[in-house]
Amino acid sequence: MSALIDPNGRPVDYLRISVTDRCNERCLYCLPEHYSAWLPRADILHDDELLAIVHAAVSLGFKKFRVTGGEPLVRPGVVDFIRDLIATPGVESVQLTTNGTRLPQLAQPLFDAGLRRINISLDAVDGKLYHAITGGDLRPVLEGVKLVKQIGFPSVKLNTVLMRGKNDGEILSLLNFAAEHDAAIRFIELMPVSLTEMLSEKNFLPVQEVFSLLKREDELEPLTEPLGFGPAKYFRLKKRGVTVGLIGALSDLHFCERCNKMRLTCDGKLRPCLGNHLETDLKPALRPAIDEEKLRTLFRSTLAEKPAEHLFRNNYQPHRVMTAIGG
Ligand code: SAM
Repeated sequence: MSALIDPNGRPVDYLRISVTDRCNERCLYCLPEHYSAWLPRADILHDDELLAIVHAAVSLGFKKFRVTGGEPLVRPGVVDFIRDLIATPGVESVQLTTNGTRLPQLAQPLFDAGLRRINISLDAVDGKLYHAITGGDLRPVLEGVKLVKQIGFPSVKLNTVLMRGKNDGEILSLLNFAAEHDAAIRFIELMPVSLTEMLSEKNFLPVQEVFSLLKREDELEPLTEPLGFGPAKYFRLKKRGVTVGLIGALSDLHFCERCNKMRLTCDGKLRPCLGNHLETDLKPALRPAIDEEKLRTLFRSTLAEKPAEHLFRNNYQPHRVMTAIGG
C-alpha cells in the first residue's frame, strides 16, 4: 500500500499516538504550573480502539508509529499495547518517546515486547537543574539510559528542549553524556504548544546558536542519510564521536516541507498538524461500535485539511496542552 498524499503533495505515513495525557513529571515548557484538567478516564481510548485506528491507518498506507503521551509508560498495560502494535501486520516501525523515569522497571519488558527504538527526554544532566525543569528525579532516567544501552536497543536518542537561561549551560554536558553512552542527542527549539508562561521570546534559544557552539567545540560532519523519520538535521561530532540532531521547529523555514505525520490524541482526536487547531473526532467511528470504514473516511478528510505549514510563527495560542497532544 503506498502512502496517502496530502494536499501539498507530501506522502503521509507516520502516526504519533498519544496513549495518555497523564504525566509523572511537570516540565516547565509542557504543563502549566497548577494544571489539573486531566481528561476523564472514560474519554481515553482503550487498547482495542487504538489498535482499530492503527489497523485503519495501515490499510491507508501508514507504516510508522510512535507511542507518546503524557508519559506513555504510566498507562496501565502499555507494554502489552506496544507488543500488539508491533505485531499488527503492515506496521513497519514502532518508536517510543518517554521521559525515562519508568525505564528501570520497563526497559526489559519493552525490549521483550519487540520495541527497538526509543527516545528519552533529557533536558539536563545536573540533578538539581533537571528537577527545576521537570519537577522529577534524574536518577531513574540516567539509570534508564544506561539500561537501554546495556539491553541493546539499537536506536536510542536523547531529546533536549532548549530554554535560554535554563539549560543552555548544560549543552556540552549533555553532549558528553550522549557520547559516553553512545546515544544520539537532539536539541529541539521551544515551541508554543503548551499553555505555560515558559514560552517567551527571552527563553527561546534557536538551534543556530547550538550549531555555532558545536562548530567551536568539535568538528562537524553533516549526515546525508536521515536518522529517523522526522525533520531533524543530523551531524556527527567527529572528536566526541556523537550524533547530534537539530530540530529548528521555529527558525527553520523549511521545517514543514517534508512533514509526513498525523497525530492522535489519547481521547481520539486526529490532528493533521501540531501547530494548528484543526482536529477530527474519531470517537463516532469507535463508539458504540468500531467502524473501520468510517475511520478511513475520517482519516482521508483530516488529511485533506493538512496545512502546508504550522502557525507557530503567527503568535499561535494553543488550545490544548502538549501533554494532551503528545509532541
Ligand atoms: N512524556 C514523554 C517525554 O517526556 O518524552 C512524551 C511526551 S512529550 C510531550 C514529547 C516530546 O515533546 C518530548 O521530547 C518533549 O520534550 C517535547 N516537548 C514538550 N513540550 C515542548 C515544547 N513546548 N517545545 C518543544 N518540545 C516540547
